[in-house]
Amino acid sequence: MGIASINPATGETLKTFDALSDAAIAQKIEQTDRAFRHYRHTPFADRAQWMQRAAAILEERKAEFGKLMTLEMGKPIKAAIAEVEKSAWVCRFYAENAEAFLADVAIETDASRSFVRYQPIGIVLAVMPWNFPFWQVFRFVAPALMAGNVGLLKHASNVPQSALAIEEVVRQAGFPDDVFQTLLIPASKVAGLMEDDRIKAATLTGSEPAGKSLAQACGAQIKKTVLELGGSDPFVVMASADLPRAVETAVTARMINNGQSCIAAKRFIVQDSIFDEFAEGLAEKYKALKVGNPLEPDVAIGPLATSAILQELEEQVQRCVDAGAKVLVGGKGLPTSPSLPPTGTYYPPTILTEIPVDTPVAQEELFGPVATLFRVANVDEALAVANNIPFGLGASAWTQDAAEGDRFLNELEAGSVFLNGMVKSDPRLPFGGIKRSGYGRELGREGILEFVNAKTIWIR
Ligand code: NDP
Repeated sequence: MGIASINPATGETLKTFDALSDAAIAQKIEQTDRAFRHYRHTPFADRAQWMQRAAAILEERKAEFGKLMTLEMGKPIKAAIAEVEKSAWVCRFYAENAEAFLADVAIETDASRSFVRYQPIGIVLAVMPWNFPFWQVFRFVAPALMAGNVGLLKHASNVPQSALAIEEVVRQAGFPDDVFQTLLIPASKVAGLMEDDRIKAATLTGSEPAGKSLAQACGAQIKKTVLELGGSDPFVVMASADLPRAVETAVTARMINNGQSCIAAKRFIVQDSIFDEFAEGLAEKYKALKVGNPLEPDVAIGPLATSAILQELEEQVQRCVDAGAKVLVGGKGLPTSPSLPPTGTYYPPTILTEIPVDTPVAQEELFGPVATLFRVANVDEALAVANNIPFGLGASAWTQDAAEGDRFLNELEAGSVFLNGMVKSDPRLPFGGIKRSGYGRELGREGILEFVNAKTIWIR
């Protein structure tokens, strides 16, 4: 597949783009590096003003940008507009807090004065996915530019118009020329970029193979990476939980972005005594979800982003069924409807139960509206099933028993644990994973500290 916007709701090609030539890539790297030499010396107050302006532009143009995302990757329009608003929030958050996050930190030693000073490092390459085309990029752009770094974006090949729109927002906001540029290039060009001395580090959100490939290229050049890869987050519900709230939240937590979110709840691990009630409640709500054209405001589930994602999901569900899973809801193609063009990449809300815990597909991430349900006897078994995967991104646990709650907070193997709530990202809180979900953190103070030189200063 080339670099193209293809509407997944219809299969229509909206726009195609030529990939940049090697000469054009070299020119953009040179421009961005040159921009860094003066941008690094700009005061925080100026950067904050530009970043606030970027937030204002996002808010002013949220309907336009929301529609662009929906057309390129199929998320429901309301969620797309909310994503633009959240992108504005992260801009404002770092505009207001970056200076304090990066203030010198005094440390008493044998020196007359010693402290840590945080300084920008230069060009950071961001390799970003299509699932949250604006949010994923702005949660990189806001801390990077506020820290005095400059950025190059290699966005997913199916969201080139979003990529160019983001570049335009940064330019319109008044930032100096070339501090943030989009490279329309295929994934095959990324590893080679890391051989360029002017690119100092890279951050990637996406699949495990992509993360591994970029980390290898960076390792060969001794360059830092932050990786935010997949997840198969557990959503544990114990007998003492507020069941109606847990069921309600389970639907939102699984269906966010048509089920294509790294921190979507994917495996529902439910205590035996309430399992049937939970499953029936979830099934009822799943059947009521409206699947259809994501531009219609009352549609809850749009198409999957690409035909490749659809094909992989269908194949994974089939492997679950082959391993013994029962299909409680969905699982088959949607009934033909005039509002759903046959070329659209739709998949129905689906619930699978009785999947053997150790079957290989139970260890994989299912990127679409498919919930898998596991029945457990007690908290020990719940923790064992929850942790029995190679990923460790987020985890949600539902209980009103304080001792059980403590065990989940301490023993769930994940970068974040949400008790009696769904996992969500928030500019104020660090975000990232452990195990094969990656390493490093985005957002919060931790996020802005990833790509700075924490310089030790010692003065007699
Ligand atoms: P990819 O990981 O392939 O794409 C994410 C980004 O990485 C894109 O910009 C892509 O570019 C780029 N990329 C792909 N391969 C390489 C590589 N070898 N070196 C450098 N960059 C690379 O995700 P897919 O779109 O293929 O989705 C596949 C699966 O990945 C999903 O089913 C899901 O499991 C997971 N995923 C997880 C996400 C998350 O939020 N954690 C987001 C998206 C996907 P290009 O588009 O040009 O290939």
